[in-house]
Amino acid sequence: MSRHTRLIFLAAFAAGCATNPVTGRSQLSLISEGQEIQMGKEYAEQVKAAYGLYDNAGLQAYVSRLGMQLAAKSERPQLPWQFNVIDDAAVNAFALPGGPVFITRGILTHMNSEAELVSVLGHEIGHITAKHSVSQMSQAQLANLGLGIGSIFSSTVANVSGIASAGLSVLFLKYGRDAERQADELGFKYMVRENYDPREMASMFRTLQRTGGSGEGRLPEWLSTHPNPENREQAVAQRVDSLGRDVGAMTVDREEFIRYISGMNYGLNPREGFFRNGLFLHPDLRFQLQFPQGWQTQNTKQAVAAMSPNQDAILQMTLGQGTPDQAAQQFFGQQGIQSSNVSRNSVNGMPAVSGYFQAQTQDGATIRGLGVWLQYGNATYQLLGYSPAQAFSRYDQVFRQSIGSFRELTDQAALNVQPAKIELVRVSRTMSVAEFNRQFPSSIPVEEVAIINGVDAGGSLQAGTMAKRVVGGVRQ
Ligand SMILES: [Zn+2]
Repeated sequence: MSRHTRLIFLAAFAAGCATNPVTGRSQLSLISEGQEIQMGKEYAEQVKAAYGLYDNAGLQAYVSRLGMQLAAKSERPQLPWQFNVIDDAAVNAFALPGGPVFITRGILTHMNSEAELVSVLGHEIGHITAKHSVSQMSQAQLANLGLGIGSIFSSTVANVSGIASAGLSVLFLKYGRDAERQADELGFKYMVRENYDPREMASMFRTLQRTGGSGEGRLPEWLSTHPNPENREQAVAQRVDSLGRDVGAMTVDREEFIRYISGMNYGLNPREGFFRNGLFLHPDLRFQLQFPQGWQTQNTKQAVAAMSPNQDAILQMTLGQGTPDQAAQQFFGQQGIQSSNVSRNSVNGMPAVSGYFQAQTQDGATIRGLGVWLQYGNATYQLLGYSPAQAFSRYDQVFRQSIGSFRELTDQAALNVQPAKIELVRVSRTMSVAEFNRQFPSSIPVEEVAIINGVDAGGSLQAGTMAKRVVGGVRQ
C-alpha cells in the first residue's frame, strides 16, 4: 500500500471508529476531531452570549492559567483548550467537546482552595480527554435525536432546564456514572501530577454534595449533570492511599485562592432582573412585567421567559431590532410564518405593534401565537406568547394580560438593589460557625455559611484562617 492510499484508508476508517485517547480502545464515533472542535467552539460562543462571562480579568486569567497547566500534560494537549468563568449563580462546571471548559462564579464561591479548583478543572478536562460528550452525542445522533433540533415543547428539554434554548441542550446532557468515575480518576491524576493535595478533591465533592439544588442559577446544578458515582469520596481516599506518598506536603493554597473570590457576587444578581411572586423587576432596564401566576420562569442574558404549568405555552421577552414596526416586520417576514391582525397600538402609553402568527415546528405541529413589539426608553422589546394551535384560545387572554402589565419600574428599593457579595473575615480565634455567624452575620442562612466555608454545620473555623460571609443582596 502506498503511503498516500494508506492515509486515505486511515481517514475513512477514522470517521466511523475513533480511538479513545484515554482508554486506547476504539469507540464508535460519528464525529471527527475537527467536528468535535468546531462544535465545541460554536457552543462556547452560545454559552458566552447566553450566560455571559464574569467580569473580572484577574480571576479569568487565574482560572485559565491553572486549567492550561493541567490540560498541557493531558492525553490531548493539542486541543484548543479554553477556561472561562461564567456569570451564573448555579454551582456547576461544564466541559464542551474539543476544549472549552466553563465554571460558574457560583461554584467558585463554594470553593476554599486552589487545590479544590484544580480538582474541578481536572475533572472537566477528563470529560473532554475521554470524549464523554462526543460519545454521548454519537449515541444521541444514533437515536436520531441530533442536536439543536429539540422542540421547545419537548418535555425532556423542558424538564431538565426550564426553558432551554434547544441549541444549548448539550449543556444539559447528563453524564453516566461510569463517565463520572473516569473523569474523577483522570482529574485525580492531573492534579497529583501538578503536586496538588488530592484530598482536596474529596472535600470539593463533599461540598458539591451538600449544595443540592438551591436552584438560584440559570444553569442546572452540578449534581444534575454530574451524577454521583457510588462511594465517590471513598474512591478518592483509596487513590490517595495507593499513591504511597506524603500528601500532607502537597499544595493546597487556600489563602491564594480565597483572595480571588473576595468581593465576588453571590447568588443571583438582581440588577439583571429578579422575580417577586411572578412579578419580574429589572432595575438596570427600569421595567416590570407580571408573568402569569404559577408559571415556571427563567431569566437569561438574552431572554426572560415563562412556561405554563402544563408545559404547553410559553411567554418570552427579548430585545428587538430597530423600531417596533421594523422589529415586527422582521419577525412576520420570516419564512414559514403567517401573520394576521397586525396593527399599531400602545401598551400603557408606549408605542407598540401587535399581531397574531402561526408556524409549523420541525416535528410538524402547528403553533399559534401573539407578538407585541413595544418601545420603551431607547429599546424595542419583543414579547411573544405561543402554544400549540389547538391550545391557543386558552392562553390568548393570559398572554394579553401579562404583556399589558409591562410598565416602568418606579419602586426605589427595587431600582437600588445590589447583588450579595462574598466578604472575607480573618478569624482571630477558633470558633464555631454559629458563633462566627453571630459575630459576623450573613444575609444567607447559617447552614449555607457552613457549606461555603467547607465545614460541617456543627464545625469550627480555625484561628488565623480567612472565612467567608455573605453581605447584602435580596432574598427572594
Ligand atoms: Zn463530571
